[in-house]
Amino acid sequence: MADTRKGEGHHHIVMVPFTAHGHLIPFLSLARQIHERTNLTITIATTPLNIQYLHSAISSSPNTNINLAELPFNSTQNDLPPNIENTEKLPLPHIIKLFQASKSLETPLHSLISQITQQEGRPPLCIISDVFLGWVSNVATSFGINNISFTTCGAYGTLAYISMWTNLPHRKVESENFWVPGFPKNYTFHVSQLHKHIREADGSDSWSRFFIPQIALSMNSNGWICNTVEEIEPLGLKLLRNYLQLPVWTVGPLQPPTSQNSSKNHAGKESGIPIETCIEWLDSKDQSSVLYICFGSQNTISATQMMALAEGLEESEKPFIWVIRPPFGFDMNGEFIETWLPKGFEKRIRESKKGLLVHKWGPQLEILSHKSISAFMSHCGWNSVLESLSHGVPIIGWPLAAEQAYNVKMLVEEMGVSLELTRGVDSVVSKENVKKVIEVVMDQELGKGKEMKDKANQIAVHLKEAIVENGEEKGSSVKSLDDFVSTILSSKAII
Ligand code: UDP
Repeated sequence: MADTRKGEGHHHIVMVPFTAHGHLIPFLSLARQIHERTNLTITIATTPLNIQYLHSAISSSPNTNINLAELPFNSTQNDLPPNIENTEKLPLPHIIKLFQASKSLETPLHSLISQITQQEGRPPLCIISDVFLGWVSNVATSFGINNISFTTCGAYGTLAYISMWTNLPHRKVESENFWVPGFPKNYTFHVSQLHKHIREADGSDSWSRFFIPQIALSMNSNGWICNTVEEIEPLGLKLLRNYLQLPVWTVGPLQPPTSQNSSKNHAGKESGIPIETCIEWLDSKDQSSVLYICFGSQNTISATQMMALAEGLEESEKPFIWVIRPPFGFDMNGEFIETWLPKGFEKRIRESKKGLLVHKWGPQLEILSHKSISAFMSHCGWNSVLESLSHGVPIIGWPLAAEQAYNVKMLVEEMGVSLELTRGVDSVVSKENVKKVIEVVMDQELGKGKEMKDKANQIAVHLKEAIVENGEEKGSSVKSLDDFVSTILSSKAII
């Protein structure tokens, strides 16, 4: 354990996450890990509504000793609807406004660091900020302290994402396949793997104008922390370190404790179903027989895709739990209309006990850790990937945004734990293909399904051993976190 107590007093670290659940959850977990291993004082600074959310997440798992500091934020002054401070209730095209609005937090963050400096007689040890919030480095520089970038994604996905924004490589070739700087020359990506905003980016649009400079600032920080594990992403980490020419500490898998509260899950969100009901339903199923379907905290598929998925599921006759939200183009948090599913679908699956629909938000960790789960159909947000693989559950990929398609590419090509069903909300999905892919991945007795299951189990072992090795907390991620802390303690500036 890094010894921060001896003659050092209690140093302080301030953390600034991007305001989306998929970022707040790993930031909170990282804060807990650093605090538990070192006793450093940790403050997470974010906007008032996100503070409320973090309070709620903390209260569902007691004994968390993390400070929360409010940074004043006015959504309407930032061209956002009233009381919007998180991606959760924002349609995708507006998310860029939230990114841009994050820059209005620079002055309040500066005031917070001044206040801490006055109270404690010295500035915090460092500011750990989201890779997307490169502007935080201006604040760190003005106090002469380290700025560490934290990527909540994996190394491979992070590299693909930052290099795509930095270089816009798809705009430089005629072909739909292209090479991404930082990857070996024989690696190609396809334009269909790019989210619409980056596919159309040319350096002058609003997404480029935010992401290109923010990523450049983060690439100039003093080091990166990555929510991954050395042993599961050797290629991604080697390439990322080489590209950044900075230290990259691996601290994954950052997972919150499972909830102690029956209606709220680890994310502090109200589940659409009592956890016990879900577990009882799963208890009634055979081991490794159930497909779990969920597209993360802020994505959904199109209405026609939803129909094909429902039909394919019924034809496959596999039991399933589906966290379902209104389709793309409708209010994701609004009422669910029955006609989005085949006629009589919900009644049939309820009566036959073949399926369980969970509206809006499901207890994902509790579901994935249940022995009845066989496979996960996922958008492949990085948290979902780690949560699935931690339980040795192979993945049916359906990437929808951000770096998800790059994650799937790695899951298929490097790890061999996944099949990609389709990409995005515009693709045509047939019930026949849904059925076929489900069968290949869920038939785990032999063939491709068994191979994927075996590999997922091996990765689960690596993920566990990254924390606990031979009964002791000394796996690669623990060592890396200790190294991070002693590095920042031993130098006022790493570079
Ligand atoms: N999550 C959940 N229930 C849901 C949807 C999501 O508990 O119904 C959690 C999930 O366990 C994960 C996070 O929300 O920890 C989603 O993060 P991820 O990186 O997978 O995707 P994002 O939401 O950022 O796209």
